[in-house]
Amino acid sequence: MISFVYDEEFNKYDLGLDHPLIGDKPKRILNLIKAKKFTDEIDIFKPNKATVEDLQRAHSKKYIEIIKELSKKGGMLSLDTPAPKGIFDIASLATGGTILAAEKLFNKYEISVNPLAGFHHAGRNSSSGFCFFNDIAVVIEYLREKKKLKKFLVIDLDVHHGNGTQEIYCEDKTVLNLSFHQDGRTLYPGTGKLEYIGKEKAKGYTINLPLPPGTGSNSYLYAVDQIIPRIVEQFKPEIIIYQSGVDTHHSDPLADLYLSYQTYYHLAQKIKKLSEEHCKKLLVLFGGGYNSDASTIAYYNIICALLEKTDYIRERDDFSYQKYNPVKNLVSELQKVLQPYWSF
Ligand SMILES: [Zn+2]
Repeated sequence: MISFVYDEEFNKYDLGLDHPLIGDKPKRILNLIKAKKFTDEIDIFKPNKATVEDLQRAHSKKYIEIIKELSKKGGMLSLDTPAPKGIFDIASLATGGTILAAEKLFNKYEISVNPLAGFHHAGRNSSSGFCFFNDIAVVIEYLREKKKLKKFLVIDLDVHHGNGTQEIYCEDKTVLNLSFHQDGRTLYPGTGKLEYIGKEKAKGYTINLPLPPGTGSNSYLYAVDQIIPRIVEQFKPEIIIYQSGVDTHHSDPLADLYLSYQTYYHLAQKIKKLSEEHCKKLLVLFGGGYNSDASTIAYYNIICALLEKTDYIRERDDFSYQKYNPVKNLVSELQKVLQPYWSF
């Protein structure tokens, strides 16, 4: 059994008709789960909005006020992020969804999913990239306070670098933020260099692998296998927060990685196994995905892996080893940079 949080209001997280963020993804994925009759193995829970107290564990009072104000009439949070009327409530509900999903990990579930989550571009005082509240940071601080957890691993596989999460935790070694993303020289937000590994005492607890445009599925999976299991074994997290963005798919209109549908199954399967072996608490936050049809299939494949269903959706993949050698070199370089902190 897995837990899944959902509210019809989730589908109102929509930034406008001419904006790439598509509002109906949660509904689409839920409909597919129902059509495939997975509902016997998925318990669905309705979240409450995160409170201002919850938000304040990760964001400044001033920033929260700015969103609240914008939300009254509508406006722009940043150049790429319109703030439609009412967005404060919807973003708070999405964040509350992540909190509820995490709560379920302390109440009989080992895996919990929020389909409207993983807003990794939001920093403490500012944001862009279609994000308002960083639910990853809000839930980490919630768990630190309420459940006394001390070691959090974020595995962020969205195609974009998790710059907001990095900004919040670059000086904190209780949160290991690991981000695989398309190279910032070719994609928003531009950050996430391989050499950047955190600040001061927390060096080694920020891990970035910037991948070249065109990276194929097997090249990507190679990098995952070479880096992630060894980090999990040595860091020994008490929870794994998996930002499972699917904007790495080859059809995504915003980015240029070349992952196939089946890759999402394999990624989720690997991370599920790591959670089973090390902490038995896996919080899956669906993250980005801007081709509506492809995203639904990719998320569906993630659910299949979490439920150990083998009838996931496959597609022909002629690009699987694309950029294999450059990725191999980057992996060696990253291992070298991390050598003082982790062994491989
Ligand atoms: Zn993204």
